Amino acid sequence: MREEEKSPVRGGAGISRRTFAIGAVGSVAMLGLGAVKLVGAESVVRPPGAQDENAFLAACIHCERCREVCPRHAIKPATLESGLLNLRTPEMDYHRGWCDFCESAEGGEPLCVRACPTHALRLPGLPASEHVRLGMAVINTDWCLAFQAMGCHECVDACTFEAMGVNDDGTPYVIEDACNGCGACEHACVSLSSGSISVGATDRAIVIVPAEGEVLHG
Ligand code: SF4
Ligand code: SF4
Ligand code: SF4
Repeated sequence: MREEEKSPVRGGAGISRRTFAIGAVGSVAMLGLGAVKLVGAESVVRPPGAQDENAFLAACIHCERCREVCPRHAIKPATLESGLLNLRTPEMDYHRGWCDFCESAEGGEPLCVRACPTHALRLPGLPASEHVRLGMAVINTDWCLAFQAMGCHECVDACTFEAMGVNDDGTPYVIEDACNGCGACEHACVSLSSGSISVGATDRAIVIVPAEGEVLHG
């Protein structure tokens, strides 16, 4: 049995959503504004070239040019939900689109990287899809229709990077070495729209989580 077959849900410190505390208190201030984080920043999934988070935050001027040029509408400005430090910085939005790394673009350089005036988006090499890992796909087996024997494999069909497979029982798995976080699987996931039988599902059954600092073949 393959390693990924045993463990469809991936976790671990390397990719988990981490909160970066700043200031003396080093905690999240709530101040009666619900879940809004006024101090600190959630780790978010960034466009290609922003995987060195500290360098990115130092250089990004929140101009939103990357978002404006994205042909797949896969970038959104982060809200306060992602923390004050991230406010209006670019964050991937796989509900609206996914990232094909603009591989059909002339010269192969992603349009968002080309549009960034401060080089906050900076690539380690081209093609971007082979050098950059935006995040990692993670399957929630409680919410996935295939794990409820409903015969779904939309995410597997959507993956163009051969980073997903199907077990003998029809359940999908992620091939972590090949996944670059493009988000086509999350974009295609029908678990909510087709009526997941899971009580309490609040998100799609496959989501991309941050893989900060990780590279595919740097
Ligand atoms: S590489 Fe292209 S598709 Fe991907 S986020 Fe940038 S502009 Fe959008
Ligand atoms: S598993 Fe999902 S995020 Fe990873 S490469 Fe395939 S479609 Fe993209
Ligand atoms: S598309 Fe969603 S519900 Fe369907 S198999 Fe993939 S993760 Fe499961």
